[in-house]
Amino acid sequence: MKGTLYVVATPIGNLADASPRALEVLRSVELIACEDTRVTRTLLARNGIERPLVALHEHNEREAAAKILEVLASGRSAALVSDAGTPAISDPGAHLVARAHREGARVSPVPGPSAAAAAYSAAGFGEARFFFAGFLPASGAARRKALEALDAPWPIVLYEAPHRIERTLLDLAERLGAEREVAIGRELTKKFEETVRLPLGEAPAWLAAVPQRAQGEFVLVLAPGAEKAAPAALDADGVLDALLEALAPSEAAKIAARITGLPKNELYRRALARRK
Ligand code: SAM
Repeated sequence: MKGTLYVVATPIGNLADASPRALEVLRSVELIACEDTRVTRTLLARNGIERPLVALHEHNEREAAAKILEVLASGRSAALVSDAGTPAISDPGAHLVARAHREGARVSPVPGPSAAAAAYSAAGFGEARFFFAGFLPASGAARRKALEALDAPWPIVLYEAPHRIERTLLDLAERLGAEREVAIGRELTKKFEETVRLPLGEAPAWLAAVPQRAQGEFVLVLAPGAEKAAPAALDADGVLDALLEALAPSEAAKIAARITGLPKNELYRRALARRK
């Protein structure tokens, strides 16, 4: 299979963010897989591009992927875009990309806008690492578990839908503490863009302060939580002494190794010495 699947990032609001290379690639391919054909057609029309589109979304990813793979198998190239930002990041496309790899096509990213990278770069947490958590589950045990996992010592990037942003800010403040800082990127690259950094406890009031604010698109970047203290080191000799009251040195060493994580041989040697 000689064709190339280009994974092309498109604007997250400001159409001028489509890169010259992204447009050149979209103009050159045989077929473009997209989420909503109306959204992609608007982007293409604005740039004078006319290419055939195939809708590829959660519910038809397999069938749509088959059409793209046919193109690639014939040695021609195709592109994958989503409605906004980078495909396969909280967006459809990963299934097609994985199949293209399996079937021997070349896969080539055409990088560009992504709401996660844009929000993180404007948050200023400056850590060497961050965790991309995508969307939180909407409710139930899955949501509680996901919220718990956010109590981590590195920055975390979350996407959220407008109808859930208020609930999510309240849940985050409750779970992580009102003092924990959050950077909120709203309507990035668009007319009413805002990026603010404030304690989670103040975020619901910030949201409510302007009536139409909750309508926008949001990325949340949580400041890193405090590093958790390592569990106190176990006193291996104390553990051995307690076990030696009831057990032979070899048995005591075996159990002490399980409790302390230290090597059994070393603990056996120590147990013999302590028995003397
Ligand atoms: N794949 C896309 C990307 O790389 O940016 C993300 C797609 S995801 C379905 C859509 C979510 O991204 C929105 O709910 C919002 O959380 C975030 N988002 C997209 N555009 C945004 C923008 N202009 N400003 C803030 N957040 C945005």
